[in-house]
Amino acid sequence: MIDLRSDTVTRPTDGMRKAMAEAEVGDDVYAEDPTTRELEERTAELFGHEAGLFVPSGTMGNQIGMRLVAEPGQEVLCDADAHVVTYEMGAAAAIFGLSTRTVVSDRGLLDADALIAQVRPQGDSYLTGTAAIAVENTHNRGFGRVQPLGELQKLWDWSRGAGVAVHLDGARIWNAHVASGVDLATYGRLADTASVCFSKGLGTPVGSVLLGSAQRMATARLWRKRLGGGMRQVGVLAAACLYALDHHLPRLGEDHENAQHLAERLGVDPASVETNMVVLDDVEAPVLAEAAKAQGVLVSQVSPSRVRLVTHLDVDRTGIDRAADVLTELLDR
Ligand SMILES: *Cc1c(COP(=O)(O)O)cnc(C)c1O
Repeated sequence: MIDLRSDTVTRPTDGMRKAMAEAEVGDDVYAEDPTTRELEERTAELFGHEAGLFVPSGTMGNQIGMRLVAEPGQEVLCDADAHVVTYEMGAAAAIFGLSTRTVVSDRGLLDADALIAQVRPQGDSYLTGTAAIAVENTHNRGFGRVQPLGELQKLWDWSRGAGVAVHLDGARIWNAHVASGVDLATYGRLADTASVCFSKGLGTPVGSVLLGSAQRMATARLWRKRLGGGMRQVGVLAAACLYALDHHLPRLGEDHENAQHLAERLGVDPASVETNMVVLDDVEAPVLAEAAKAQGVLVSQVSPSRVRLVTHLDVDRTGIDRAADVLTELLDR
């Protein structure tokens, strides 16, 4: 099977499994797991933050991250297609008592002015105060769109004077970094809290790191435990993440090249492909997906007329070409 549904489907490589097997471990609830501490420190340094906290999922990273910068009854503002309000099971409301408000965007493209225009003051006795704005880079429902640095900077510069925090959902920030050439630390500097995932393009079985100030990460540690996310000899998983930084981050550009190649072969405008996702529009998604599956190619149906293909480290150029053969034949039919 050539599985192009998502970059989450990768399996740990032999090298990664070896690193996991050999990891030095301790009880991380006592903060005694050296490999986890190394991962937290190294990731914090990469993004120019004071501290990091290893969490089981990007959802937990985002939700704790937002809770650190907003109090129950306050609101977090974000775009209407943001992962934090689309795919996280209403956690902000269900668990943390946060209100969310959304602004419709052009396929996830960050528009600082449009968000800023919707911000409501804190400390009012009538209005729901906006405590934070959440941004997503790359944008998942924007099909891997990279946010313009200028917009991120504009939002950040405005937020300092306004007393509004910025949370970055950086599940695929690695892809943004590779595609744009912008330093991870530059992206990191433009957020108060950030969640970055290792289980997408970097190919680990699990794991995200939440980033922020040392004080905020100390509070995040309490929330993680409260949510049942305190983990013990979790260095076996942190080792996979460290391995991914060394071995999988440097190769991430291959996924982008494969996506470009796939787009060209499928007649999709390569300019619409910024990172590792290709979208087929105006197709009969269920029919195409079913027929492709019968020929060993798995794709994701994102709507009845839209199919998404995601490149990742478990599909090489030969696999991409085979998938393109199958899909072009089906699209021609
Ligand atoms: C995958 C993803 C997450 C986190 O998802 P988990 O499955 O909880 O790890 C968060 N934000 C974006 C944009 C994502 O694509």
